[in-house]
Amino acid sequence: MAIAISTLAIQPEKVKPVKNIILMVTDGTSISAVSTARWLKVYRSGSAANPVTLNIDPWLCGYVRTCNSDAPIGDSAPTTSCYVTGHLSRSAYIATFPPYKGKDNIEPVDSTRAYAPMATILEAGRQLQGKALGMVFTCQYCHATPADCSAHYYNRGAEQLLADQTVHNGFDVVIGGGNYYLTPQSEAYLRSNGTNVYRNDLQAMRFDRSNKMWALYGDVDMDYDIDRNPDEQPSLAEMTRTAIDKLSKDKDGFFLLVEGSKVDWAAHANDPAGLPNEFLAFDEACGVALDFAQRDGNTVVIVVPDHGNSGFSFGRRDLGDYSRKSLDTLLGPVDKFKRTADGMEALINSQPFDSLRSLFKQYEGIDLTPEEYSLIINSKDYRQSPIPEEMRKSDKTSPLYSSYLSGIITKILTRYTPFAWTTGGHTGEDVFLAVYNPHNQRPLGYTTNVQLAHYIQKLWNMHGKMDTFTDQIFARHTDVFVGYDITITKSEEQNVWPVLTVTNPRNGNTLTAYAFSNIIEVNGKQEQLPSVVTYVDRNDMFYLPRNLADKLK
Ligand SMILES: [Zn+2]
Repeated sequence: MAIAISTLAIQPEKVKPVKNIILMVTDGTSISAVSTARWLKVYRSGSAANPVTLNIDPWLCGYVRTCNSDAPIGDSAPTTSCYVTGHLSRSAYIATFPPYKGKDNIEPVDSTRAYAPMATILEAGRQLQGKALGMVFTCQYCHATPADCSAHYYNRGAEQLLADQTVHNGFDVVIGGGNYYLTPQSEAYLRSNGTNVYRNDLQAMRFDRSNKMWALYGDVDMDYDIDRNPDEQPSLAEMTRTAIDKLSKDKDGFFLLVEGSKVDWAAHANDPAGLPNEFLAFDEACGVALDFAQRDGNTVVIVVPDHGNSGFSFGRRDLGDYSRKSLDTLLGPVDKFKRTADGMEALINSQPFDSLRSLFKQYEGIDLTPEEYSLIINSKDYRQSPIPEEMRKSDKTSPLYSSYLSGIITKILTRYTPFAWTTGGHTGEDVFLAVYNPHNQRPLGYTTNVQLAHYIQKLWNMHGKMDTFTDQIFARHTDVFVGYDITITKSEEQNVWPVLTVTNPRNGNTLTAYAFSNIIEVNGKQEQLPSVVTYVDRNDMFYLPRNLADKLK
């Protein structure tokens, strides 16, 4: 049975519309990670007595329940989908309606919509209100959270078809990772629509004065903030500032997604150097957005994780009486970490073997013990090891053992911290909510992810109107083209998507629609639609604008 929580939340009934929305998602971030990052910031300030706070602190206002449609512990795909659509869905579903799961459904599910795309507030804002759209993130742009805001499919693993949709979904500014996924055709499409495209070119991004820009860094993800070469990759704060500068020129307003993508990755990896530092880099970006919003007076900033991760704990059983230990004792060693485990792995793999010990001392503040040293030089993926690969023998009984070098480094680093982890996966506790609203109309107390989505919709006067909009832009092709000749052509080739061809038998007019694109052809002449056309193989269905049959009259 569904539990009626909706009556408990303290949500403003009437929300005054605002021009701009900035949604800031710190992926996979438990409260304990935020608290630890804050203590690290306090420690770095030099005095625990200083009133040091995070940028989000003045605006913290409640807890948010994060969940899938059929499971309490959320996956990134349905959780941010929910914030931007207002509907729960299943693990791996990117802004797509779930199939019915009977008693496991946490809120009612409309089974007639299974696998159909859910329109997002971004799509509604752009198509109905002329809003500009932007996204900044540090993962690849087809990873779950940016994909949630720009694409639709029931499988987050189908990254290329998600990537192709994002390209065709009308974004003004995209800054993040994912060069590998931007095909030459996609790049040509963006350029032909007046978008400047930069690949691994920080200076060009900084000099760009246009309003439409894609700037990608790295093949897949960008580097963790502390591993980042500042001459090659921008900080999330700079990316946020750059996006706001461009988007705020639009007289109709804008929606910006900012994702601290790799707070989640550090938590998955149980990386004690990555987790607090990556969150602090996200909080710097929050500072940029909050500064803008307070100056602008017509912008709401919502800061929220999409779910918890890793059971991260500040305090660990084997440390004994740690509650008597000082901030310096507990976080001094953490402050010395200048590389994540991934960053350290890359560093020692690229430097000669005789620098191994000094690199650990210089970048992590650690004098390697014989046990730590032995595990590293016997690791299969340590490329500089003096031991021939077939002779390497790791002590698998060591608590520091992992089959990967980065795993060993992670465990070595953790040893010098008061941190612990219960899992390498997501966790089901509620997450924090921080909201800045110029009219001070904020959700307070305990809010569900669905309710938070409704709050966002109210900001643009879209609450109660999203399903109608979904029906307009994502109708089934079998409902749109009744009485027409329909052919679906599928290719065996990889990453070549299905094509829908429809002919009006009365006048011979023909329309061709390409899956995961906004390009159609009417009697051979190319046109661009305001929304993407999607396709689902499970029911062999195209989803496209309801009024498309008009083009064949
Ligand atoms: Zn996530």
